[in-house]
Amino acid sequence: MRVMTRPKALPEIDPERCTGCGRCVAVCEPKVLWLETDGPNGWGRKRSVLHDESGCTVCVQCVIVCPFDAIRMVKTTS
Ligand code: SF4
Ligand code: SF4
Repeated sequence: MRVMTRPKALPEIDPERCTGCGRCVAVCEPKVLWLETDGPNGWGRKRSVLHDESGCTVCVQCVIVCPFDAIRMVKTTS
């Protein structure tokens, strides 16, 4: 069984700043980020979402690559 450990920090994506450009998704090696739309059937505004917290390696590449300053690393308590 896989032990679920929470990384010491996680990216927090500001949905107001995120344009859905997908650069963070492309650069994330463990593929724990993806783009979601806020409407049904792929319609609406796209934005990046962290879908697997435990898979994040805290490499910070997503923060570095985001041209819109939409991601910051936030310390987790557990
Ligand atoms: S790189 Fe930044 S603006 Fe582009 S999808 Fe990721 S969080 Fe959103
Ligand atoms: S910190 Fe690294 S592993 Fe975590 S979401 Fe960003 S790019 Fe992916």
